Amino acid sequence: MSRHAVITVRVPAKVNVQLGVGGLRPDGFHDLANVFFAVALGDLVTARQGAGVKLTCEGPGSDQVPLDDSNLAARAAYALAAHHGIEANVALHIEKAIPVAGGMAGGSADGAAALVACDALWELGTPTEVLHELAAELGSDVPFALLGGVALGRDRGETLSPLPVPGTFQWIFAVADGGLSTPAVFRECDRLRAEAGTGHTSEQVTTPDADPALLAALAAGDPKALAAALTNDLQPAAVSLRPSLAETLRVGTAAGALAALVSGSGPTTAFLAQDAESAESVARALRESGTCRAAHVTYGPVPGAAVLAD
Ligand code: ATP
Repeated sequence: MSRHAVITVRVPAKVNVQLGVGGLRPDGFHDLANVFFAVALGDLVTARQGAGVKLTCEGPGSDQVPLDDSNLAARAAYALAAHHGIEANVALHIEKAIPVAGGMAGGSADGAAALVACDALWELGTPTEVLHELAAELGSDVPFALLGGVALGRDRGETLSPLPVPGTFQWIFAVADGGLSTPAVFRECDRLRAEAGTGHTSEQVTTPDADPALLAALAAGDPKALAAALTNDLQPAAVSLRPSLAETLRVGTAAGALAALVSGSGPTTAFLAQDAESAESVARALRESGTCRAAHVTYGPVPGAAVLAD
């Protein structure tokens, strides 16, 4: 057992700066062209010695976070212990800042954080590649929460190539009331495509590639070029299920955001700003508009799940 009685891990949320959705595959998944971007808005996961796996959670939306073995943090603890053939004994506490069911991969982030926290608490020294494999088994967004930064994800999102990005981008996230179920948003995407007559199966829709203009904007650290290249194929589906998001997107753009988009499957909306000052005025306008529950100013890219120094 660790010399440290308490391990705290900080883990980022993600926004998809490109989310290209291919057709529905026979196995029920969609191929994705996914560019993940880690932002400083993040959760803290603390691991202490315990008997069995115990979970507590505080922060906005924590009443909707399951505290049983279905929580991704608990599943991560069991998966790591099983890999090493040891008993899972840990008390995990999640300080939530990532909107719950908000399209920012909060549950996946906590899963990644729990892997790192338990690895340190139990002094396992698990190789990074093994943590990555365990993360991919937990869910397709979990490996990126380990990696952080900016990365291109293929397949279901779990095959990652890091993209070096100079400098820092300013973001604002508007949190909506309630969540959206990710599978429901994918189903709505398929339904809208079928309704539009464009087809929705993997035979009818080719998976988009990473957009060269987006990759160039990231490599240059250029917010205006990035703003022009942001895309999310799930946005029409999220707005269809939650029409009020259109007004939130409009308010942020009118207040000077360079671009506005739904984050992942939503209903959180993301706004890119030119600089920190502009980001504050976009956030103020969003709060005053009453079209969202909260608006957070943050930045990225930031590193993936990491133990905080004592
Ligand atoms: P994604 O963008 O990865 O699809 P999301 O950000 O929209 O996910 P999450 O916050 O990850 O949504 O929550 C989705 C569901 O996962 C929740 O409704 C909850 O039931 C479940 N869940 C499991 N573990 C967690 C966790 N640690 N934090 C939040 N939700 C969790």
